[in-house]
Amino acid sequence: MADILLVLHTGSDGSFSKGALESIATTVDLSSKLGGSFAVGVIGAGAGAAADTIAGCGAEKFYVVEDEAVAAPRYSSDVKAATALIQKAGAQIVLAPGSSRFARCMPGAAYRAGAQIDTHIVALAVEAGVLKAQRWYYRQRILTTLSRAARPWVLLIEGGIQPAWQGAAGVADAESVAVEFTDAELRTTIKGIESPATDAQTIRPDAALLFVAGAGWTKKQADGAYHIRDASNLIQGFLKKAGASLGSSKSLVDLQSDGQETLSFMSHMNQVGQTGTTPRHAKGLSTCCHGEEPHAVGWRFINERRAINMDANCGWAQGKADVVYIANAFEVIAKVNELLG
Ligand SMILES: Cc1cc2nc3c(=O)[nH]c(=O)nc-3n(C[C@H](O)[C@H](O)[C@H](O)COP(=O)(O)OP(=O)(O)OC[C@H]3O[C@@H](n4cnc5c(N)ncnc54)[C@H](O)[C@@H]3O)c2cc1C
Repeated sequence: MADILLVLHTGSDGSFSKGALESIATTVDLSSKLGGSFAVGVIGAGAGAAADTIAGCGAEKFYVVEDEAVAAPRYSSDVKAATALIQKAGAQIVLAPGSSRFARCMPGAAYRAGAQIDTHIVALAVEAGVLKAQRWYYRQRILTTLSRAARPWVLLIEGGIQPAWQGAAGVADAESVAVEFTDAELRTTIKGIESPATDAQTIRPDAALLFVAGAGWTKKQADGAYHIRDASNLIQGFLKKAGASLGSSKSLVDLQSDGQETLSFMSHMNQVGQTGTTPRHAKGLSTCCHGEEPHAVGWRFINERRAINMDANCGWAQGKADVVYIANAFEVIAKVNELLG
């Protein structure tokens, strides 16, 4: 019996996501630190073929649940399949990528398997033979290191903490784990998927650059007029040309809920800050945003920061950015877009 079980799911095309491949690297690393072995369990469409693509990862054993019932995400069937894999493998430590599919079903699977679970894990270490996990609390302000005596212990791993595993495909010779699903468990079905056009998808976690738009874009400019259409075109043009991810200040996205005319492609999902997100990108460019602390705290993981603001006393100029351009963002971004071609 392996010491660690890594549970993965395939995507609708039967392949593994980047997050799944990263969690393989985390498992290989932890297994070598613990000096034990690991098994891999795969749920979803084409699970057996997907297991073959990672046959060279060093797993002692592969298990699959590739029943039609788990081809698409659904809490009731996913929770049952994951529970079956945990029970079948009998491992003391269960790792899984913190995908939306697993974030939904793994707590239920852990409960059914009599396991404890911790989510949003950003690091795993072994000290004096004891497994220690790290996660952030209180919006990335407090980093905690924890261990648990209870077993099995399920840990959902965050994306981006390891490079994606790369290795040889082969023959995984996976054991199929039979799971009986009741009609009630199959009651919920996916009728269709509505997704935004790819160019309307402004949140891009893998982008090298975070472009933040602040409320200044929607304020009266030097000529006494609003230039919201220009702002939309400039920002969308920049995002397209630079492949950047779009962040926002709270003031900008709040305008929309206040019923004011604003940037139509912006939503609260874009909000960066204390009550927004804390994205991770190599670089960040803030435009027309004051850089107040409740916003700038969301830049914790942005390594190189630049800002464009007309106000030389803005928050960014108070030590929160590496470079501040005291300039009109409308003019700067128009010029940058022109240079980007
Ligand atoms: C409990 C709490 C939680 C909060 N959480 C968040 C949060 O999660 N995220 C967040 O963003 N805020 C948050 N806030 C609000 C935050 O304090 C600020 O009010 C908000 O970030 C201000 O947004 P802004 O800088 O876009 O707008 P403003 O303060 O209105 O600043 C607009 C800026 O645009 C500049 N500007 C205008 N025109 C131009 C131009 N042509 N070129 C260049 N610059 C120009 C102006 O100089 C100004 O600095 C929170 C506040 C509280 C109390």
